[in-house]
Amino acid sequence: MTTSFDAESSSPGPSRAGFVDDLIGVVGADNVLSAPEVTGSYLVDWTGRFRAGPAVVVRPATTEETAAVVRVCSIHGVAVCPQGGNTGLVGGSVPLDGGLVVSTRRLRRLDAVDVAAGRLTAGAGVTLGDLHRHAIAAGMAYGVDLGARDSATIGGTVATNAGGNNVIRYGMTRDNLVGIEVVLADGSVIRDLAGLEKDNTGYDLAGLFCGSEGTLGIITAVTVRLHRPFPEMVTGLLAFDSVATATAAVRSLTAAYLPLEAIELMLGPGFELIRSTFDLPSVFGRGHAAYLLVDCADATPVTERLASAVGDLDGLEDAAVADDGPRRSSLWRYRELHTEAVAGIGPPLKLDVSVPVGDVGRFVEQTIDDVEASHPEARVWIWGHAGDGNVHVNITGLDAASEEPCAASILDLVISLDGSVSAEHGIGRLKKDWLLRQRGPVDVRVFRAIKTALDPEGIFQPGVLLPDAP
Ligand SMILES: Cc1cc2nc3c(=O)[nH]c(=O)nc-3n(C[C@H](O)[C@H](O)[C@H](O)COP(=O)(O)OP(=O)(O)OC[C@H]3O[C@@H](n4cnc5c(N)ncnc54)[C@H](O)[C@@H]3O)c2cc1C
Repeated sequence: MTTSFDAESSSPGPSRAGFVDDLIGVVGADNVLSAPEVTGSYLVDWTGRFRAGPAVVVRPATTEETAAVVRVCSIHGVAVCPQGGNTGLVGGSVPLDGGLVVSTRRLRRLDAVDVAAGRLTAGAGVTLGDLHRHAIAAGMAYGVDLGARDSATIGGTVATNAGGNNVIRYGMTRDNLVGIEVVLADGSVIRDLAGLEKDNTGYDLAGLFCGSEGTLGIITAVTVRLHRPFPEMVTGLLAFDSVATATAAVRSLTAAYLPLEAIELMLGPGFELIRSTFDLPSVFGRGHAAYLLVDCADATPVTERLASAVGDLDGLEDAAVADDGPRRSSLWRYRELHTEAVAGIGPPLKLDVSVPVGDVGRFVEQTIDDVEASHPEARVWIWGHAGDGNVHVNITGLDAASEEPCAASILDLVISLDGSVSAEHGIGRLKKDWLLRQRGPVDVRVFRAIKTALDPEGIFQPGVLLPDAP
């Protein structure tokens, strides 16, 4: 059993002086934070919905220090919450159920790019943005990208098996992960960073830790797969007369043999919210019901191929195309600012779900109709990675008592469509009561067996991912 550790309390629980002194002995006094004015940002999640009480934050700089910190926590029986950039959206990155934060942001090893092998080894605390820039400087690229790239860490993206903008071409983080280094609950270390293309020697440990949300150990470094970037890239912003025609167009574009990197869905109200919140220009002179943002990339020019595929789409009202970096980025801003703009209204009810690609339109329309009928005071904001069936549903203006039933009816619809209650953000605290329903009793029993085998004292992440024991 672990004990909650409050930096301000003296007893019961571990002796504050003994515990903190032991941590200081490992990482030095400058890297053991307990004053509320410096720990504050580590203890509330990005959404503002999950706030931990006072807690210590420790910042190891090496794998060895991380292992020693975990040993200290194990001896004192203090729970551990690994934290990267704290951009997670399901409440797993803050120690709500007690314990301390182990921040990985000083684990900033960044090896030379192995161009021949297409591999890069990086410390868990390197941001996704820095990893991209490092790869690009060597003439290579990493296939996982998302809006929080300049805060999210590579360790956090592996811990959550993050998806992002380019899953239709490069897959989720797990598909791009070829090696891992992890500190286990007893302080021992799995070191498997070679990143061999072929290594068929038993269980896939990197795959197991990917998506484990800090519940099995602290990832200290990873090796990822890189590819050669395509020289020709084009972004199209397509405006449609309805959600139905926009989502039908996703299927047409996918069938058109285009070298697609991304197909993102936005709806009219969200687009207008971004425009007004960030004072962005109107792209088309008037608003439209729904939009798709489409990226294509190839070795040869792609603009004509995209234009010809788009020309046949039903319900298309307008289109804008950009084929240079700055203009492509300015079209992407309308999509990437959604999370921030909606958060600015107040913490929304956030659901990140997936349904079969052919059901995205039906799911979106039914969700909007259902929420508007049952909660007229609420507003539904929907966007997502439509190319892989991933829809982000955000609802603002709900009173606290309505959140759970509202979420339940949407997640029921997801399950009835053979979808997933978590497409890419993970389970965290937000979805753990849905895990059993989504995965079934056998999977959850296996999850518990893995957890018990690797973390018998339950030191990592109490209250995260696994449902409370029956
Ligand atoms: C604006 C915005 C856009 C986003 N877009 C996307 C998107 O498109 N796709 C997507 O999948 N997600 C997206 N996210 C969610 C978030 O960015 C990802 O979940 C990201 O992977 C979290 O990385 P992080 O370093 O911030 O992890 P944190 O938030 O710090 O932690 C997330 C979880 O991982 C665990 N963890 C973190 N680091 C480690 C480690 N080194 N070892 C073990 N466990 C660890 C934590 O305990 C926690 O459970 C977005 C978030 C924001 C704010």
